[in-house]
Amino acid sequence: MPCYIQPMKDGGTMFLCGDFGPHCGACASVGDFLCDFPVGEGKTCDMPLCEGHATEVAPNVHYCPGHMVLWQEFRDAGGVQRELENVVPYAQPKREG
Ligand SMILES: [Zn+2]
Ligand SMILES: [Zn+2]
Repeated sequence: MPCYIQPMKDGGTMFLCGDFGPHCGACASVGDFLCDFPVGEGKTCDMPLCEGHATEVAPNVHYCPGHMVLWQEFRDAGGVQRELENVVPYAQPKREG
């Protein structure tokens, strides 16, 4: 039976044994979330993550700590801005008649 170490709100930890699914990829607690970071070919990282290690970057989109760093670097470098500009088509002035 797998065992888990769950952090508690008071700063302590709690041992939990049972079938609660995969372990978090970054610690020993239950991995309730999966990293949704795209890694190419339509796949995502899929690292199991606990509540403390899953960072929600959009509704229902979570990144693992390692990919969160990559994402922040990408965003800080203006990557998001560039992506948005690529999505919006360049408006051509309409010529009448
Ligand atoms: Zn964790
Ligand atoms: Zn990841």
